[in-house]
Amino acid sequence: MRIGIDFDNTIAGYDALFASLAEERGLFQSAPTAKRELRDALRLRPEGELTWRRLQAEAYGGRMAGAELLDGVDRFIQSCRQAGVAVSIVSHKTQHANFASDGTDLRRAATAWMEEHGFFDAMGLHMNPDDVHFEDTRAAKVARIAALNCAWFIDDLEEVFAEPGFPKTARAVLYDPHATGNAAVEADATDALLRCRHWDEIGGHVLGGQH
Ligand SMILES: [Mg+2]
Repeated sequence: MRIGIDFDNTIAGYDALFASLAEERGLFQSAPTAKRELRDALRLRPEGELTWRRLQAEAYGGRMAGAELLDGVDRFIQSCRQAGVAVSIVSHKTQHANFASDGTDLRRAATAWMEEHGFFDAMGLHMNPDDVHFEDTRAAKVARIAALNCAWFIDDLEEVFAEPGFPKTARAVLYDPHATGNAAVEADATDALLRCRHWDEIGGHVLGGQH
């Protein structure tokens, strides 16, 4: 069995980084601490979309080192290894940002961040760099997920699961740390999508049957 995982905002978290970048640039005195709130607030301003894209170019590029490893990702990947489950990272990430002036290689920034967090260390998560795939488009991303024959795919963006070509054989897990409601985990009516707020919940569902 192979499990596929998205990268940005599923493995690497940017909420605190976006807030600091926005404050450094004087965009807010005290920036919203959730990335989506920050984005929505900026988009209401003149040139807000452009400002947002420039912030993104920085966060995913030159300032990537300030991103955080989301809580529980490492435990999940280690549990997969122990259960003999293969893990692939499949990310929609272009090589360069459209709105960056410094020409930072976004894929290299992400790879350096993974190295820094021990993704490829024998004493760390012990992943193989060949199991990390960067794709130029969302269509190419779902084609990769299909080609890898992922039994599960975990992503923070619901649109990925709705993309034509997302394999019907892959179970969808939406990583949604800001989900509201009482249930920690809820499957929708069709059971097509599993919504989880925390990586430990994902582990319980995805690997629960493995033990
Ligand atoms: Mg993502």
